[in-house]
Amino acid sequence: MKLKLWHKILIGMVLGIVLGLVAPEFATKIKPLGTMFINLIKMLIVPLIFSSLAVGVMSMGNDVKKMGIIGGKTLAIYLVTTAVAVSIGLFFGTIISPGTGVEIGVSGNFEPKPFQGPLETLVNLVTTNPVASLASGNVLQIIVFSILIGVAISLTGEKGKPLANLFESTAEVIYKLTAMVMQVAPFGVFALMAWVVGQYGLDLLMPLMKVILAVYVASLLHLLFIILGGVKLLTRLSPIKFLKGIMDPLIFAFASTSSSGTLPLSMTAAQENLGVSRKISSFVLPLGATINMNGTAIYEGVTALFIAQAYGIELTMNQYFIIIFTSTLASIGTAGVPGAGLIMLSLVLSSVGLPLEGIAIVAGIDRILDMARTTLNVGGDLMATLIIGKSEKEFDIEVFNKDNKV
Ligand code: ASP
Repeated sequence: MKLKLWHKILIGMVLGIVLGLVAPEFATKIKPLGTMFINLIKMLIVPLIFSSLAVGVMSMGNDVKKMGIIGGKTLAIYLVTTAVAVSIGLFFGTIISPGTGVEIGVSGNFEPKPFQGPLETLVNLVTTNPVASLASGNVLQIIVFSILIGVAISLTGEKGKPLANLFESTAEVIYKLTAMVMQVAPFGVFALMAWVVGQYGLDLLMPLMKVILAVYVASLLHLLFIILGGVKLLTRLSPIKFLKGIMDPLIFAFASTSSSGTLPLSMTAAQENLGVSRKISSFVLPLGATINMNGTAIYEGVTALFIAQAYGIELTMNQYFIIIFTSTLASIGTAGVPGAGLIMLSLVLSSVGLPLEGIAIVAGIDRILDMARTTLNVGGDLMATLIIGKSEKEFDIEVFNKDNKV
């Protein structure tokens, strides 16, 4: 049997834990291997955000007027549900508080950033020198710049095509590079887990169960109240029928952990089970698979809080808002491929000055978290498609009402 990547990562994690328990002295010495993996992840951040966000914005098409209303509605639903998702994540991250008592302590090279007021943060979103922002890795400025570039490319039309192609090609190459980096994840995770357990013992692992619990509970409630509740409230259609109709893509999303990979199934379900026209579903769904990630947003919120708690860092109100803001943006910039949310977590952490090493701690359980978040990501896209299809009268009630076997 050929082992899948996530099998290997789990094996790496278990072996790392065992090594850390059996030979803690030696285990702490292989940390550099783990550091190299973290560096590989960090290497991806700037090009990944820059290219995938610009492509996400560009995918809205260049006929801005025609797409205006549908695009506006789509974005509104995506943004609101995502921001709600992060808040739900933060809420459960606070209640379940998975990192409290973990006490990793602040690692040597970490210095909390001095914190600015909200106005200053807003002003600093706009860079005076994009090249400098890219070079220094100022993620917020890069995000704003990428969105603006994406809009400008769309508006430029024919002459902007070569640049659009360049971004699309860059994004594809970076996705490939992400997949390559994920190939060495088992070794990176092995080294990091060995080091973490060698250094801190098993005490650290128990809270990870709580992280899983927090992400799953928050995701389930988001599914029930926001996605199914949203369908009921905004379309007056049966949420149960909706859920039955989207079972295929949901299960495939859970198993594949890729929204993009699930897209063909989502398209089929939207047209054949939900009764949404091809015109709407072929615009709303691909856009959603790129930019709408409710599950990823929940995950970013929970894990950012977990890492703050584990490092004993008190977050200010201002930082909570920044987490909501950056998690929303991070989930927009997250590619619909396995493990992408883990990499985008670095964006959220760095925006509030939390230690990036925290990523290593959640990396070992990422697959389990990815299954929940991808399922929700796909569910959110399908909800938006139904709402927009219904409101634009691009919807066939007879198709929706036909019996769907699960
Ligand atoms: N795997 C997720 C997706 O494809 C993205 C993520 O890693 O959060 O939707």
